[in-house]
Amino acid sequence: MPLERSIYAWFQSHPLIADLVALRPTCWFNPALATSAEALGDVALTAEDIREASARLERFAPFIASAFPETVASAGIIESPLLPLPALQAVLSAEQQLPASGALWLKADNLLPISGSIKARGGIYEVLKHAEDLALAGGLLQPGDSYAKLDSETARAFFGEYSVAVGSTGNLGLSIGIISARLGFKATVHMSADARQWKKDRLRACGVEVREYSADYSVAVEQGRREAGADPRCHFVDDENSLNLFLGYAVAAERLQHQLTEQGIVVDAEHPLFVYLPCGVGGGPGGVAFGLKHMFGDAVHCVFAEPTHSPCMFLGVYTGLHDAVSVYDFGIDNQTAADGLAVGRPSGFVGRSLQRLIDGYYTVSDQTLYRQLAQMQACEGLELEPSALAGLSGMFKVLQEQQGYRQRLGLSDERMARATHLVWGTGGSMVPRDEMDRYLAQGRAELVGR
Ligand SMILES: *Cc1c(COP(=O)(O)O)cnc(C)c1O
Repeated sequence: MPLERSIYAWFQSHPLIADLVALRPTCWFNPALATSAEALGDVALTAEDIREASARLERFAPFIASAFPETVASAGIIESPLLPLPALQAVLSAEQQLPASGALWLKADNLLPISGSIKARGGIYEVLKHAEDLALAGGLLQPGDSYAKLDSETARAFFGEYSVAVGSTGNLGLSIGIISARLGFKATVHMSADARQWKKDRLRACGVEVREYSADYSVAVEQGRREAGADPRCHFVDDENSLNLFLGYAVAAERLQHQLTEQGIVVDAEHPLFVYLPCGVGGGPGGVAFGLKHMFGDAVHCVFAEPTHSPCMFLGVYTGLHDAVSVYDFGIDNQTAADGLAVGRPSGFVGRSLQRLIDGYYTVSDQTLYRQLAQMQACEGLELEPSALAGLSGMFKVLQEQQGYRQRLGLSDERMARATHLVWGTGGSMVPRDEMDRYLAQGRAELVGR
């Protein structure tokens, strides 16, 4: 869609656009940030909705434990560890010539069971919700039943009468496809050109139909939406607008709160929590941020991270155009190694709902993602996919900002010294060995060539 004003008029009114267009790493702290008391009402969902989603995941835990043996240890709860990054923090702080300040942690969603990415939260939740609705309406489940009975031939025959479809850059398709096929649904995944071959292979091995497109994410979604719309027994998982997907992500906050308490980490005005979230279409980071704001209020500061080649949410919120703008409108190509973040047009629902709740947005180059991928592995022994490193620069963006953001929020040096910086590591454990080795080699080459 063409812009109503010339690109030069936009450069004048919104000077950071020139940096985005030049693919320079860019950072913007949100002048419209409001308190959670003021702005949580902008979202058409409540704390009660998050509690319901959490209770639904509890009900499904016996099914998950039965269907996915790797979750038996966590009693069918799909959760990731919280890990300290002391060695990496030391290396990155030295690189930036900054004294140590606060503590750097990783929320290791790369280690989430079943599908190895943050999509194991929202994507799986949405399919479970749909399955529950169908099973209760169809008499397959009675309230109070153990949901372990959904891991049965009877249940698979029942769900086999229905189908699930989704458009994806890879990881959402992986999550939706795996859980749908396991329940017995017919599943179709519409994959954008960015999707990695191994993700398609893996899905086909589960019996999922994979349609491939030579175009980007938005086209794959549109095609999926159209096909599913023609079939009343097909549920289309709408990554751009789904409230259920969003709620599945939001449940992460209460789980994180327990983990922080276990680690003795305090979060309050004197001990701020910064959370850096890689952003594609926005549902994952948006849902997590929404949950965090309910849980920690103004003590939590959420910052979204995007590739320099795909800054769709940054552009959408900064211009106020939201889903009426795509990166292509500004000549940005949406070509990035961070395949999970290769999205040209943001979710309008997320951008509008959260525009007063997100502290800031920044972009990061593919070279930095690769470099930090190798540093993460060398310092901490953790292997993440490129998208999942986007949050790692966030701490330094905050510590080095000169836009008056910290001053405005009263984030003094003393408070920053007590801060926890949490990088959301959104994926990686399913990446095949040879592909991870190529990522690591690329990262090491970036480190040497610097
Ligand atoms: C999908 C994804 C994200 C971002 O989630 P969105 O809901 O698209 O914003 C981040 N990292 C990885 C690895 C992903 O797969």
